[in-house]
Amino acid sequence: MDILIIEDNRGDARLIRVYLEEAWVLGRLPEGKIHLAESLAEAKAWLGRSAPTVVLLDLALPDSFGRTSLEQVARATDAPIVVLTGQEDERLAEDLIAAGAQDYLLKNEIDAQILARALRYACERKRAEERLRLSAQILDAALEGIAVADAEGRIVSVNRAFTALTGWHETEVVGMPLLRTASGAGFFRCEGYPEDAEQFQREAHCLRRNGVELPVWLGVSNLADACGRLRHRVAVFSDISQLKRKEEELRHLAHHDPLTGLPNRLLFHDRLAQARLMAARHGRGVALLMLDLDRFKRINDSLGHAFGDELLREAGRRLQEAVRASDTVARLGGDEFAVILTDLDRPEAATRVAEKLRAALAAPLSLAGNEIVVGASIGIVWLAPHEASSETARALEQADMAMYHAKRQGLPYAFFEAKMQEGTRQRLALEADLRRALEENQFVLHYQPQVEPDSRRVIGAEALLRWHHPVRGLVPPAEFIPLLEETGLIVPVGEWVLRQACCQALAWDAEGLPPLRVAVNLSARQLRQPDLVERIAAILEETGLPARRLELELTETMVVDNPDIAGRLLDRLKALGCRIALDDFGTGASSLGYLMHLPVDTLKIAGAIVYQIRDRVDAAIAEAVIGLARGMSLASVAEGVETEEQLAILRASRCNVVQGYLLGHPMPPHEFAQRLAADTG
Ligand code: C2E
Ligand code: MG
Ligand code: MG
Repeated sequence: MDILIIEDNRGDARLIRVYLEEAWVLGRLPEGKIHLAESLAEAKAWLGRSAPTVVLLDLALPDSFGRTSLEQVARATDAPIVVLTGQEDERLAEDLIAAGAQDYLLKNEIDAQILARALRYACERKRAEERLRLSAQILDAALEGIAVADAEGRIVSVNRAFTALTGWHETEVVGMPLLRTASGAGFFRCEGYPEDAEQFQREAHCLRRNGVELPVWLGVSNLADACGRLRHRVAVFSDISQLKRKEEELRHLAHHDPLTGLPNRLLFHDRLAQARLMAARHGRGVALLMLDLDRFKRINDSLGHAFGDELLREAGRRLQEAVRASDTVARLGGDEFAVILTDLDRPEAATRVAEKLRAALAAPLSLAGNEIVVGASIGIVWLAPHEASSETARALEQADMAMYHAKRQGLPYAFFEAKMQEGTRQRLALEADLRRALEENQFVLHYQPQVEPDSRRVIGAEALLRWHHPVRGLVPPAEFIPLLEETGLIVPVGEWVLRQACCQALAWDAEGLPPLRVAVNLSARQLRQPDLVERIAAILEETGLPARRLELELTETMVVDNPDIAGRLLDRLKALGCRIALDDFGTGASSLGYLMHLPVDTLKIAGAIVYQIRDRVDAAIAEAVIGLARGMSLASVAEGVETEEQLAILRASRCNVVQGYLLGHPMPPHEFAQRLAADTG
């Protein structure tokens, strides 16, 4: 223990030194060095260089006196200070302690033992003071709010963060119970905390001074004294309002569609289940409506996704506005929306809403300079009160079937009926069969002769798709092409047809038969295939068939329905060198003005017009189309020619090519070759 004695009286200094040495010898103090300073200036100079364990200070110095001496020394060192004084004086003692001394001694009462005890005590006291100061600093520097309560649980002090977080000052909360109990008031409200626990952590709330509730994460610990008696409870808390907001956002996201803000599929199921439970209890019905926007995919593809998104948002808004606040409008994905109508007494109530929803969507929508009208088909499932127990997923499936039915039948809406389920089952089975058909090469092409009417010479063949079903035999295209289109399978199948037809034409060449033109039908779905032209070019290149020997048949409705792509696409197909025919011409109510500007080569008069011809009056339309074609320098083909009378009339009208059962049914390639060989031979 290094000791600095500041004392100008040499006699006193010597005496103190003697006592200290005695204390060392007796082991009452740890040994060390003694340094003597005889003035304040000397002491300060020495303290500037060294750090003693403790300082003994006489207040009366040659260059300073009394309390000033003490303050100066205290400022110069961190060591504990014991003051030496000449007289006993209570007031003075208190003053000295307040000014920074740890203890004081009366000079004339000192002996080795008293001195040693005072020095040890001063060191301990200094350490305790340091600890206290640090604790206080920590309390005030803490970012967490801290409130200390007494053994009875009443607040006795709070830190600065407490005030910053809650707005309450210490004086306003002192005496208040820390925790709110079921019966009374209290600062923190937290549900079901363990009252006798030493420590707990919980989510809690407190009221800020501005009246706003603050969610906090609260930890409460009991503080006991040395004998284990509860003396204090300390509460530490942090603001979790931001965390709570994030949590709320996440919860919202999990249950809502980010694009429209409407409930998503998850929440929808929940709401539906809820609605049905309520319905069962109150004996009321629930209707589930499912709808998707007509032509949405096409709009999205041609006008861009930003446009599509805006369209969905607007549709969501309109649907929401058309129903009661207690009903639910959800977006299930894509352009699929579902609506839950609650508290209905009859199914007819649902039809009224269905009409309202359609009307809401029907108002033209102008977005980014485009004005469009969207329609929707609606499937409805009526859930009577007693049906509340069946699964919600089932109801959704049924609504989907009803919607699908409405769409196919061109109805504004349709209620689910059990027989639709049968149709769907068959469709699903057929779809699976079709996929297998493609893998197992069950598709074949038949070829129908296209004939020059005067000479009856075969000049071309139309490739017509057939399905060799392992059980059902040869299935005609009308029964499976619509499903191929819906499932998108038409794309690979269509490509197969093109390649197959090109190869077949060349195979006949190789058999020494006269070179023929093949006509291949394209489907609407293929028109929307972005790389259609490249694929056809590749097939021509691969097979080596000259492009002018390939005629692509498109129906006029396909062209009219897709004016934006059709125009460009036809130009590019023409540029390849292919011929283009407008199939089934005369059946669609198309604008001639528009069709006349398309780069087509052939008008193909619909079979439905041709095979009805019995006399010249029936023939008027066919004749008009033939005349129109001639006027536009296009070739005319009449299909569906079944009788000699029809052929005679078509010949008289100077139709270029005829096709029909009279001249040959669609037939397998080897039969076609035989027929051709017989013709030429
Ligand atoms: P389409 O292109 O108008 O084909 C003419 C249809 O009329 C064929 O029916 C043919 O068998 C039938 N037909 C031919 N001559 C006569 C006749 O004298 N009287 C009657 N009543 N009918 C006759 P099919 O083969 O059943 O094909 C039906 C439709 O399926 C085709 O109409 C075409 O739109 C489509 N199709 C056929 N093959 C394909 C194909 O490979 N791809 C695509 N996308 N569609 C195809
Ligand atoms: Mg055709
Ligand atoms: Mg046709």
